Amino acid sequence: MGCCPLWCDVSIVRPHAKSVVDDHVHVIGAGLAGLSAAVRLVKAGVKVSIYEAGSEAGGRCRSFFDSRLGCRIDNGNHLILSSNHAVMDYLQIIEAENTLHVHEEAVIPFVDLEEDIRWKILLKKRLGLWALLFPSQRVPGTRLIDYVTALRLVWAADDKAIGQCLKTSGSLWRRFWSPLCVSVLNTDPALASAKLLRAVVWETFISGPAVTKPLVPKDGLSETFVNPALTFLKEHNADFKFNFSVRKLDYSNGRVARLLGRDSAVDVARRDMVVLALPPFATQKLLPELGVPDKYEPIINGHFRLRELEHERSFIGIVGGTAEWLFWRDNIVSTTVSSAKALLNKTNEELAMRLWCDISRVFSLRQAELPPYRIIREKRATFTQTPEQVQKRPKMATAFANLWLAGDWIDTGLPATIEGSVRSGEHAARAVIKNIKIYQGP
Ligand SMILES: Cc1cc2nc3c(=O)[nH]c(=O)nc-3n(C[C@H](O)[C@H](O)[C@H](O)COP(=O)(O)OP(=O)(O)OC[C@H]3O[C@@H](n4cnc5c(N)ncnc54)[C@H](O)[C@@H]3O)c2cc1C
Repeated sequence: MGCCPLWCDVSIVRPHAKSVVDDHVHVIGAGLAGLSAAVRLVKAGVKVSIYEAGSEAGGRCRSFFDSRLGCRIDNGNHLILSSNHAVMDYLQIIEAENTLHVHEEAVIPFVDLEEDIRWKILLKKRLGLWALLFPSQRVPGTRLIDYVTALRLVWAADDKAIGQCLKTSGSLWRRFWSPLCVSVLNTDPALASAKLLRAVVWETFISGPAVTKPLVPKDGLSETFVNPALTFLKEHNADFKFNFSVRKLDYSNGRVARLLGRDSAVDVARRDMVVLALPPFATQKLLPELGVPDKYEPIINGHFRLRELEHERSFIGIVGGTAEWLFWRDNIVSTTVSSAKALLNKTNEELAMRLWCDISRVFSLRQAELPPYRIIREKRATFTQTPEQVQKRPKMATAFANLWLAGDWIDTGLPATIEGSVRSGEHAARAVIKNIKIYQGP
């Protein structure tokens, strides 16, 4: 699932081989998709220039110093799994694997705040499925038959919503499918795409490694996914232009010929290639003819600085609260609410009170007053991943001979996640390299 049709082994292109170095690729957008494409390209010996509208790289996946909390925080909690193989390959190339904190237990812990029950979802392939035979290993309140009916997901047509395949009531829905779907697809679980959920279930519980471990950055998103990539790219002579927003593309003979910024322009030579790694709304401004997903879902994160927290670094999924996830390390507790449209009209204080209530209940805290906090609203965290919007995802190839698309919203067969964006960048890089080789002849 989600495999690239344009497979090309980048390792056979010798780094610094003259024929490849002569080619120049312009990567527009320095989010994870753009960085992933750029890293693969420089590794193959291609000259890369990166143009980023912001003053820093990372896009929707970044860290910054928060003066109110007095520490660095992430724009949002990001959880990845060791089965996310494109992410793991990317981190290996940029030598950032050891910046991840590995949760040694292959489980996702959950708590139901309404009924005060805790349980763990096993992330083990074979053992995990066999374990369902034992009531003590199932999600509390579920029967074996509930899991059997989930097989409907396997046969669901690509245009079906999850609510059309799975039963949207009962304990399995409330305590497993609903939290899984809203977290992975950032969309109302009943309305979200069954096809994308199937891809995740397939890669995590069926085709993936025997044991999947949850991973989070040790220090921050930028320290894991962004800064090591920038170092790697600089070491490979990539060229960066920050605060360069590409406003328009000029074309000539079916190829991109110029990138126009606000005050300057960059000529794209006849043999140059371009990778556009922007969000859908920004891509459509440059390619008005292209159909793109046009609905978005917010994610709200709340970060709280406690006086002290005597719990080892970890995370937990929440059912029956406002937040769906709690992550903590040292004395910082961070909460995530996905598909949070209904909360966007609340004030920061109202949100903080509700999220603090969840934190207090999870940790049985007695601290009544609200600690220092920061609320971050990412209004367009991902596109809305309903079947109707998923059908609008374009392929990475475009009508222009030297232009490819990348981003978490491109049709990778995966949800809009780090794995999806990194994989899309990798696919675009492979297509570019294949094209360079065709262009040069055998
Ligand atoms: C709060 C939050 C929580 C999340 N949690 C998770 C999680 O737990 N697990 C997970 O796997 N994923 C998660 N995601 C999703 C993940 O962050 C995204 O899928 C990924 O970061 C998208 O990367 P991208 O490169 O495709 O897009 P972007 O990050 O949007 O990158 C696009 C870049 O293009 C730049 N740009 C835009 N217009 C122009 C222009 N005209 N010229 C030049 N540059 C331009 C932007 O500034 C940006 O840097 C989360 C996202 C958010 C917001």
